[in-house]
Amino acid sequence: HDEEAAARAAAVNADTGAPTIFDKIIAKEIPASVVYEDQKVLAFRDINPQAPVHVLVIPKSRDGLTELAKAEQRHEDILGHLLYAAKIVAEKEGIVDGFRVVINSGPSACQSVYHLHLHVLGGRQLKWPAG
Ligand code: 5GP
Repeated sequence: HDEEAAARAAAVNADTGAPTIFDKIIAKEIPASVVYEDQKVLAFRDINPQAPVHVLVIPKSRDGLTELAKAEQRHEDILGHLLYAAKIVAEKEGIVDGFRVVINSGPSACQSVYHLHLHVLGGRQLKWPAG
């Protein structure tokens, strides 16, 4: 099954601290469809959308935040700002009536890119629980 194979492939990805593809997106070295941007965060459309709206919100400075499991107290401000930016994205995308914010942290959650990011999903009826 394709989905299971993808989940297994993603699950073997672990946090090495190496630079990620998101650095290139932040540096505008590779293109992304930007939905919202400010000094601290960048929001852009996921290349493999799981819903009509699927936007990733990332800190422009990774600063050790490879995954939520590595969060420290000094990250509180940026973590709050990311969540607020997710709400701005939902407003811009017209999905405030129902959307989901997801953070995958670590191999067992199928995190595949080790630069902390929020998934903002909406535009269809979302099921619960998530897989
Ligand atoms: P994770 O699995 O780590 O929670 O989510 C990583 C997300 O990044 C995936 O949904 C994947 O589709 C997305 N992604 C990976 N590479 C790129 C890329 O080069 N551009 C964009 N826009 N999204 C990407």
